[in-house]
Amino acid sequence: MQEYDVVIPGGGLAGLALSIQLKHANPDVSILVLERRENEATTAAHKVGESTVELGSHYLREVLGLKDYLEEHELPKHGLRFFFPSHDKDDIPGRVELGPRERLPQPSHQLDRGTLENHMTNRTRELGATYILGATVKDIAVSASGHVVMYVKDGQEIKVKCKWVADASGRGSFMKRKFQFQKPMEHHVNAVWWRLKGVIDIDDWSDNKEWKNYLKPGLRLLSTVHFMDKGYWLWVIPLGSKNTSIGIVADPAVHPFDTFNKYDKAMEWLKVNEPRGYKMLSAETPNLMDFKILKHYAHHTGKVYCAEERWGVTGEAGAFLDPLYSPGTDFIAMNNSWLSDLILKDLAGEDVTRLGEVYEQAHLSLVDNWIPVYQNKYLLMGNAQIMVMKIFWDWATYWSVPTLIFTNKGFTNLKVLKELFSSATGLGRRFGALNKQMQDLFLEWLPYQNEVFENRYIDPYDLSYMRQFQLGIDKQYEPGALVEKIASNMQILEQVAAAMFRLISAQVNGTPPNMKVDPYNVSLKNNTHPVEIESEDNIDPAISKDVDLMWFYAKKEIA
Ligand SMILES: Cc1cc2nc3c(=O)[nH]c(=O)nc-3n(C[C@H](O)[C@H](O)[C@H](O)COP(=O)(O)OP(=O)(O)OC[C@H]3O[C@@H](n4cnc5c(N)ncnc54)[C@H](O)[C@@H]3O)c2cc1C
Repeated sequence: MQEYDVVIPGGGLAGLALSIQLKHANPDVSILVLERRENEATTAAHKVGESTVELGSHYLREVLGLKDYLEEHELPKHGLRFFFPSHDKDDIPGRVELGPRERLPQPSHQLDRGTLENHMTNRTRELGATYILGATVKDIAVSASGHVVMYVKDGQEIKVKCKWVADASGRGSFMKRKFQFQKPMEHHVNAVWWRLKGVIDIDDWSDNKEWKNYLKPGLRLLSTVHFMDKGYWLWVIPLGSKNTSIGIVADPAVHPFDTFNKYDKAMEWLKVNEPRGYKMLSAETPNLMDFKILKHYAHHTGKVYCAEERWGVTGEAGAFLDPLYSPGTDFIAMNNSWLSDLILKDLAGEDVTRLGEVYEQAHLSLVDNWIPVYQNKYLLMGNAQIMVMKIFWDWATYWSVPTLIFTNKGFTNLKVLKELFSSATGLGRRFGALNKQMQDLFLEWLPYQNEVFENRYIDPYDLSYMRQFQLGIDKQYEPGALVEKIASNMQILEQVAAAMFRLISAQVNGTPPNMKVDPYNVSLKNNTHPVEIESEDNIDPAISKDVDLMWFYAKKEIA
């Protein structure tokens, strides 16, 4: 029986990335990747997962060394861009638009998943891994003396032996089903998507010159564009293969799946909800490459790494939350970094049992802390004022803490993990608590915020703390200095939370616009918490000024 150090069932993005990451770290590790698909991936109409953000982009470019490929063959991305509902959704320039105006210093990409996976397959092979197409894994027998993986290729059953199994079988979730560690996920959302031949530039969706010229030509086209309203968002993503991906993602509480789960129904749904998108798609029907549907895509996992038994899961074979903000590749990056660290240390003779438990705990708490970003939040998507504040909050937290930890390899540094997560008052726990408070606040605010805003453009990089967080992503720190930097970022986030709450509470409850706020106790219901007027403000005036930029109402005067 052929033997390998690592067998990876599933050669999609997660499996390919893990294989490349392991080979980069140690070319001597022997790897077998088994992929069920018979042939090369097709261009454009392959998989979703076409937009990357900063953490995942850093992983692909710097950790996997794909920078040159991405710059040559995939598209540079001009950030995430959002359009909110107005009285006339057909008139795109009238809708509140959120997105960057100027070119961004931090790279990210729009990916054609077919061309990317084909390139990564070649790269994996060049690095010495064995990648077999048309190989369907049928059984994995886990054993301390070496696992036996059985797969079928050309009708033949083949068995191989290995020290580690890294399940990257995507939604097939081989190990999860075999060992029954499914876990309920209380976030229910559905999606459908189209791929179209050719380039679709939303700048062509209006003749309004002023609106077109607001950005340099071609920049809107390069953004991942989201058209939002209550309960849904519609994406438009350009692909490097000069094709376009378009998709609806919707909460069944507002848009039942059977209202858009077939091609004709989806077109009708668009006609009602996104008329401009409908006009474009009807005109492009001859260029249709595919139409796909996916019900209840969010799923959790009870386990990620079992270092003691030498196996782990990665990518969608573990947990997947939501595509809003494009974090799929981010999770693969963090997941693979933990898993490859365990595999490499174990193969080098280290006992990684305890380390596996620490990584598993860190991974699962990261997922749990991320759930409130999405859960019930589709209800907010029709509300421009709430969504602008939420999106800015979500980006600020994402750049200043997890992304910075990742680029500094802090997730695999025990000293950093201990400092951040070991005590109940540690920074990591405080970060989770602060985020939960703010996510709850956005929901509480909804019944009070009924105003429809129009004709506004808002750029996150006009806010200096946002710009600094984004620019700071790649800065390198020693472990101690990294923890200090996270602590100072947390102080900024606490002030941002307090400044946001002051504005919201003043609007809703008429509280003084300069009241002192405990950022860990921000609730609109809790109108009785001490409303102390500060003689000296506990919020940096520069942060208050930044937060004011996302406030659409007239600011209440200090009495
Ligand atoms: C609607 C939607 C939109 C998304 N948009 C984004 C986005 O914009 N950006 C982003 O980063 N992420 C996005 N994601 C997430 C992204 O799609 C996933 O993170 C990513 O594709 C997961 O990669 P994977 O390798 O885990 O799974 P896959 O890419 O599904 O790979 C799994 C592979 O395993 C193979 N396989 C399965 N079973 C077996 C078996 N028994 N034997 C052998 N092979 C097997 C399959 O053929 C497949 O190739 C989106 C997800 C959804 C649902």
